[in-house]
Amino acid sequence: MNTPLHVKCAKCEKGAVVRVTYARLNLCSEHYIEYFEKRVLKTIEKYGLFKNTKRVLVAVSGGKDSLTVLRVLSKYRDVLGVTLAGVHLDLGVGVYSERSREAALSTCSDHGVECRAVSLSDLLGYTLPELVRKTRRPPCSLCGLIKRYVFNVAALEWGFDVVVTGHHMDDILVFRVKEMLMGQRESEVAKLLPFTPGVTGFYAARARPLYEVYEWEIELYSKLTGLKYVEAQCPFKYRDIISSSVAEMLGKIDSEIPGFKITLARRLAKRTRWDVNAEKITPCQYCGMPSSSGVCALCKFTLKTHGKPMGLVVREKLKSTKPI
Ligand code: AMP
Ligand code: ZN
Ligand code: ZN
Repeated sequence: MNTPLHVKCAKCEKGAVVRVTYARLNLCSEHYIEYFEKRVLKTIEKYGLFKNTKRVLVAVSGGKDSLTVLRVLSKYRDVLGVTLAGVHLDLGVGVYSERSREAALSTCSDHGVECRAVSLSDLLGYTLPELVRKTRRPPCSLCGLIKRYVFNVAALEWGFDVVVTGHHMDDILVFRVKEMLMGQRESEVAKLLPFTPGVTGFYAARARPLYEVYEWEIELYSKLTGLKYVEAQCPFKYRDIISSSVAEMLGKIDSEIPGFKITLARRLAKRTRWDVNAEKITPCQYCGMPSSSGVCALCKFTLKTHGKPMGLVVREKLKSTKPI
């Protein structure tokens, strides 16, 4: 992708390293970086991601997506008028987690962003592989539950208005189209929007600045800017047949109709309503965090694995590790 194309950049005399097909642009490295950052900033502006926000918490996994978000936000934090901090959750998945933690912390430090690493074994007394062995729940769903709880509580306890993640367009579209194929109701597919508003005391807002960028664009940006990200996938990650078929189908359409995915992502953002009804949220009887039935997902799960609800313990532990 970043080998010279033997054509000139559309903006200067240098050789282009990439053809951005959907925009019909050949760009050199420097102008590609500028182009990419502008697109992310446009997404932030268009969806009002930081409109009511001063303090932004970036969930930094150590992968290319979250390091890219971190880099762009740290570069433009003054323009955006926000204070940034990072949070990394060390899941204890062997060497993979060690490398991820190192990548997250060192990149944050290189970009002048204070980052707190919290470890699952500190919070719950077990690593992810240990928890997986204790339960029949699929690892990714378990990991997702824990991450949602930890990032949300971290933001609330540390006084951040919004949690930023590195979710990108390709993954979001696969998720959304898959959920449609599975016949989910609209409220259930409304999870991965560019912006999810917060609910005071219950939910920090969620922002996804890479909502309109392709995965290949992120990969190229992170390579051209020298980000030291972890390339390995989590050993628990697997791609099911429906997701990989959807990804293949969307890719095929997008190669025939350049920019198709962007159009689809924009339409989905426009047409999906996020209808969390604050009045319907019941505080968890054990930890006070949101639940639908009186016991939150984390307390429900830890009642099984620990024999007691762990929400309050996690909250207290996070409270004592506030970064800035
Ligand atoms: P994933 O669900 O693994 O594709 O990750 C989506 C996003 O969640 C990443 O881009 C990060 O922003 C965030 N994230 C995932 N895992 C972690 C982690 N262990 N620590 C901090 N943030 C994470
Ligand atoms: Zn150029
Ligand atoms: Zn709870």
